[in-house]
Amino acid sequence: MRAFVVTGPGKAEVQEVDPPVPRPGEVVVDVERAGVCGTDIEFFTGEMAYLHTGEASYPVRIGHEWSGVVTAAGSAADESWVGRRVTGDTMLGCGRCARCTSGRQHLCADRHEIGIRHGWPGALAAQLPVPVRALHELPGEVDATLGALVEPGGNAFRAVQAANLAPGARVLVMGPGTIGLLTASFAAATGAEVHLLGLSLAFARSLGFTNAWTAADLPSLPFDAVIDCSTAASLPARAVDLVEPGGRVVFIGIAGEPSLVDTRRLALKDLTAVGILSASGALAQTISAYAAQAVDPRPLVAATVGLDEAVAVLSGRRDPAWGDAPKVHIDPRI
Ligand SMILES: [Zn+2]
Ligand SMILES: [Zn+2]
Repeated sequence: MRAFVVTGPGKAEVQEVDPPVPRPGEVVVDVERAGVCGTDIEFFTGEMAYLHTGEASYPVRIGHEWSGVVTAAGSAADESWVGRRVTGDTMLGCGRCARCTSGRQHLCADRHEIGIRHGWPGALAAQLPVPVRALHELPGEVDATLGALVEPGGNAFRAVQAANLAPGARVLVMGPGTIGLLTASFAAATGAEVHLLGLSLAFARSLGFTNAWTAADLPSLPFDAVIDCSTAASLPARAVDLVEPGGRVVFIGIAGEPSLVDTRRLALKDLTAVGILSASGALAQTISAYAAQAVDPRPLVAATVGLDEAVAVLSGRRDPAWGDAPKVHIDPRI
């Protein structure tokens, strides 16, 4: 089958590889759609942290935001999955350790992450092996595009959940990329007053986020929560400065260098600070939100292209006709 393989920094190609054979408890999914995200770009540039800690090494088969159809089931995997439309959890814990057995398998020290950690092959390929325990069925209202937006949406869902917004609360979302815009959308769906902080805001405004500001024109308002979805090392500290005393700061963006926070500010403002890793635990709620059209993330997808164009996408080469939407999807069947 065809799979997209990153073989080294700045080097990647579509290769013909052996198709996956489902092991006990696994299924094989024929991939219909896979999103490209910042993590994938970092694997291509060589900046991805796991490449430096030994948690990942080249060659890497990327892709962790996906949807598809189950086409084969291994032994000890319920045959009734075959034919169902699915997405799944990126994080695959060992299932045995204390974190896994207490429902925190996304923090398992031995976890695989699909398309990211310890060599589990990713979704930029015709087929993908997935453990049954990671699967989530997609209802008819959630098409292939929406299905591949469940993983980033689940991250955003958890970030909003961590902000603990009361109805009518005012929240500032920093960084209007895919995660920031999804976070803003889920926050708006709770009835919050949503503000965005970023460098270029035209696309956010086109989605209806009229409270979109640059650092220069951000109004001085009391923010009940601030959610940092950016990759700017300076913004976590700025979030702590901007949030109301007693409020919440949520950190989901990851900078390429240490992004330091003065804990004296946390204590003296009586703040709650929360870090978010992964969509695990929020996939079902995200699927429900998409199915109910409480949030429609489809305008975030600029284009859907084939595997052969993945190198151009990772290199940041975009067709101007795609506009400013942040997400590019791959359909490995075209
Ligand atoms: Zn991602
Ligand atoms: Zn474990």
